[in-house]
Amino acid sequence: MAGSWFTGAGATDIGPRAENQDAFLSEGPVQIVADGMGGHAGGAQASAAVVEAFRSLAGASLVAPSDVVKAVSRARALVADVAERIFGDPGSTLTGAIAVEHEGAPWWFVINVGDSRVYAIDGASAHQITIDHSHVQDLVTLGRITKEQAEHHPDRNIITRAIGDMLPGFDGWLVRARPGLRLVIASDGLTKVVSDERIGAVAAREGKPQAAAHALVAQAIELGTNDNVTVVVADTLHARTPAHAAAGPWQVWGIDEDDEDGDTLERGSR
Ligand code: MN
Repeated sequence: MAGSWFTGAGATDIGPRAENQDAFLSEGPVQIVADGMGGHAGGAQASAAVVEAFRSLAGASLVAPSDVVKAVSRARALVADVAERIFGDPGSTLTGAIAVEHEGAPWWFVINVGDSRVYAIDGASAHQITIDHSHVQDLVTLGRITKEQAEHHPDRNIITRAIGDMLPGFDGWLVRARPGLRLVIASDGLTKVVSDERIGAVAAREGKPQAAAHALVAQAIELGTNDNVTVVVADTLHARTPAHAAAGPWQVWGIDEDDEDGDTLERGSR
């Protein structure tokens, strides 16, 4: 897309599994990862359906946050179709960043359902933007266990939200499109074996998004991941940031997918 302020690339690897149930889309303004779950090929079909729901946005010249809200609803409908077709209970994570225009300014709209993650790379460190929808994250939030204990907890694979469950809404954050900002979007096949420190170091070392995505996937394989691994790296180029653009990233809560205008985006702080 000529003149765009964003670019990205992705890589995926089956790892030691029999099937790759991860999927990604890194095209135009859409930079997303989906990690499917469910037997009888349901997981692969679910993650493919999630990606399919965003394909129409990939070719759009201008995307508003409300378009993203609609795409998430579409993803739910397509995964429900898969469930009906296979008589199963498939699901998928949905995590990523979509380049949007909001109040006349460019932003990354970071979205999350499940335990795939979006990191902002700052210098050589990786800061997790998304909050995992997982049992161990709930325990960390409640102060029952530490983040370190969560990494080795026997229940670390239990997620509390997925596209395919019956719960509406998703987590979203509008992140200012600061030139030079790099985002790393990854399935848990990466994040369960590669530390945040290592993710930051590798992402900062590699030049192009494609090289960075491949290098991160290679790290996970090298460290013996037992899962499919998928990484998308999105870069912010020469974003024009008008003087009236609000300072700092802000978080939006309880997004109402039935609201056509996306007016329910609420300002929060983080
Ligand atoms: Mn996974």
